[in-house]
Amino acid sequence: MNKPFSGRWRRLARRAAPLILVAVLAGLAAGCAREQPPPHIFVISIDTLRADYLTPYGAKRGATPVASRLADGGTLFTRAFTPMGITVPVHATLLTGLMPREHTVRANVHRLPDGIETVAEQFSAAGYDSASILSFGAMNFMSGLDRGFAHASDRSEQDRAFVREDAETLELAMDWLNQRDGSQPLFMLMHFYDVHSPHQPTGYSKAALAGYQGPLADGISVEMLYNHSQPLLDNPADLEALRTLYAGEVIDADTRVGLFLDRLEKLELLDHSVVIVLADHGQGLGENRYFGHGPTLEQSVIHVPIIVHDFRRRSASRQVTENVGLIDIAPTLLALAGISNDHLPGRDLLQLQPGNLTPPYIAEVEQRSSQIEYRPQHFDDEALAVFLEDLKLVDQDGRQRLYKISGQWGQHIEETNLDELHASTRAWLMDYMDGYRDGSIKSERAEMTDEAIEQLRSLGYIQ
Ligand SMILES: [Zn+2]
Repeated sequence: MNKPFSGRWRRLARRAAPLILVAVLAGLAAGCAREQPPPHIFVISIDTLRADYLTPYGAKRGATPVASRLADGGTLFTRAFTPMGITVPVHATLLTGLMPREHTVRANVHRLPDGIETVAEQFSAAGYDSASILSFGAMNFMSGLDRGFAHASDRSEQDRAFVREDAETLELAMDWLNQRDGSQPLFMLMHFYDVHSPHQPTGYSKAALAGYQGPLADGISVEMLYNHSQPLLDNPADLEALRTLYAGEVIDADTRVGLFLDRLEKLELLDHSVVIVLADHGQGLGENRYFGHGPTLEQSVIHVPIIVHDFRRRSASRQVTENVGLIDIAPTLLALAGISNDHLPGRDLLQLQPGNLTPPYIAEVEQRSSQIEYRPQHFDDEALAVFLEDLKLVDQDGRQRLYKISGQWGQHIEETNLDELHASTRAWLMDYMDGYRDGSIKSERAEMTDEAIEQLRSLGYIQ
């Protein structure tokens, strides 16, 4: 196993020690006070879901009433960032609480090394029954993200699907729920993929695009989105069609989450549950001329939704506007279950203390050619972004750029003068990024069949 922190990174991490201590003490206090059994915990990861297409984040096209229901009485994070715009590395972060350089899964063709503990292993050791039911099944059978789950889709060879439709994933998840006898708390990761490209017509988009006869009338393929979408920028009707198609898929995903909540209610599980809806990354839909997602630091890809709803109690709705990251999900899950999280660098999102220092959050890009040309051994030439308060500092090709983030949901970003960052703060952030880069990395390539390579190619991941 690689050494997760360099000396410099460790020193920087130590600066955050008081924060971690506060979180741990708060967690212990919560644990002492708890008389209830641990909650059922359901993490619903909606691949490629942008926050700003959900109603509680100010969506402009169509309504997502289930997201609103979760935000109502729940906690919505307005400025949440993914560490990377790539599916498998981010899910490895969700399940380990580590950054991609630390868990070493930095491309969809990598596999989680055996020595790195997953939260599913910790949940199982703590007496939870658990399931990972995925639309991108390859994460379980190829990338090893099923480790620690009592049940995992795609684990057995005859039930394998590289990618499955969300309707089937939902059925598998409900089947699993139906078979539980209520003797153990439940932990589930459910992953939806229909929002990912290709973007296809749905009930909503067909109605909204009635009368539109342009090139996207029947949807947009992965190939067109990634390689031939620039002309859409010259035709507002086509660009609007793309965004409407995307919105339609988001609305369908929202409906499916609602069906899942309904099933939890029917099985009398909902009142004992915490449900977390999030995305692994967003999707460029023409902002800054960028389409899709992948090795990029575009804000449309790095900004993600996180909504947490604890159905065990009635609470006022909360909007958390400080910076958080998907790296915080694992420690939050463990704390909810009363399991120690003090070995993880992230924070418990439900115990953030007002007035405490918010640590910097990093997002990274590995060398573009390694993703596109299928050369996972080349990972030297990457770019990093670091978020601090309302600033985003990007370090790419030896140059730095500074952006300012604004808007109620962090939806606006514009480049600003580097001088807006005090010289000492800039030096500290550069040092922070250097510390992250210094971490040794030795990625393990997943064993891949010709069929798997072909599937990744069809999804636009490799060429
Ligand atoms: Zn993804």
